[in-house]
Amino acid sequence: MTTKRDYYEILGVPRNATKEQIKDAYRTLALKFHPDRNKEPGAEEKFKEISEAYAVLSDDEKRAVYDQYGHAGFDARYSQEDIFRSANFEDLFREFGFSFGGMGGSPFEDLFFSSFFGGSPRSRRASGRGADLRYDLYITLEEAASGTEKEISFKHNSRCNRCSGSGAEPGSRISACQKCGGSGQIRQSRRLGAFGSFSSISTCPACAGNGEKPEKPCRDCRGSGSVITSEKVSVEVPPGVDSGSQLRLAGLGERGPAANGDLYVFVHVKEHPVFRREGDDIHLDVPISFSQAALGAEIEVPTLTGKAKLKIPAGTQTHTIFRMRGEGMPRLRGRGKGDQLVRVIVRTPTNLSEKQKRALSELGDTPKKGFFDGMFR
Ligand SMILES: [Zn+2]
Ligand SMILES: [Zn+2]
Repeated sequence: MTTKRDYYEILGVPRNATKEQIKDAYRTLALKFHPDRNKEPGAEEKFKEISEAYAVLSDDEKRAVYDQYGHAGFDARYSQEDIFRSANFEDLFREFGFSFGGMGGSPFEDLFFSSFFGGSPRSRRASGRGADLRYDLYITLEEAASGTEKEISFKHNSRCNRCSGSGAEPGSRISACQKCGGSGQIRQSRRLGAFGSFSSISTCPACAGNGEKPEKPCRDCRGSGSVITSEKVSVEVPPGVDSGSQLRLAGLGERGPAANGDLYVFVHVKEHPVFRREGDDIHLDVPISFSQAALGAEIEVPTLTGKAKLKIPAGTQTHTIFRMRGEGMPRLRGRGKGDQLVRVIVRTPTNLSEKQKRALSELGDTPKKGFFDGMFR
């Protein structure tokens, strides 16, 4: 990996730029570097770079992650596919007046699929299986405890209904691509001044690497056979789930010629303001009064499912931990639940009345032998 430049720097916007400023900056740069308009070497790379920066900074959640963790933390969390999935480039480019894929092979389609979606159509075809997708789902600790059902929306490449995935307008035929002779690849020679020339092989832009081309491309998918569709599915999250759990939704990834990829839902359990989870156990601190600690009491403590009573014996010291069996998280594997561990924090009274002060001072005199007695001479 090369060192990545700062996304804000790439777009030339300040770190507090508004969404409009970001979009304007991207529009200006995209008009300059779009491969349809700019054939200079390096323009395509530049276009990818600005598109990536825009995809991240135009998405509130991704921008926040990037702001906080920078490239390293961001890349650990999002794949290239994740980055480009949320930004709707198709609509955006239509708005900008660019072509997007399809017809006669815009270089962008190739760019889009090869760089943004991990592999050209040809390499995906070779493997036969569409790419897997990732979705990050954030749930609360209570939801993790009870289990929950969440509706998630995502976009993926799916089979075009109009042409049943063939890419040909219904009624028209499919024939070998004339530009690449059916190989799906094109060899290009480039002169390098005094050093001679070198040749490179790239995906055929006319057939997007398929080697064949419909005589009349399908109106809906513009010949690709795939359309990007928004999906909504319900995800069943089992009780006891923890951050790092993955739920696999078979076949809901990207479309592939032989099989679709899968959608992986990565579960993240959000931090709780009161409870702290350690495995199946739940920890929490509960403040109790000085007299409750001294005289004993029955207190109510919050649990994942509501409230429960806890007996505090007389003479309880601060920071004593009480175990409430079966009040923790349900075990994801196996039966039963973990425990809840309550640490009581004794609050020392303040703003005492004269009477209370006298009572406490008498209390303070009670022990015949002090804690430090005998320790010092
Ligand atoms: Zn179609
Ligand atoms: Zn071709």
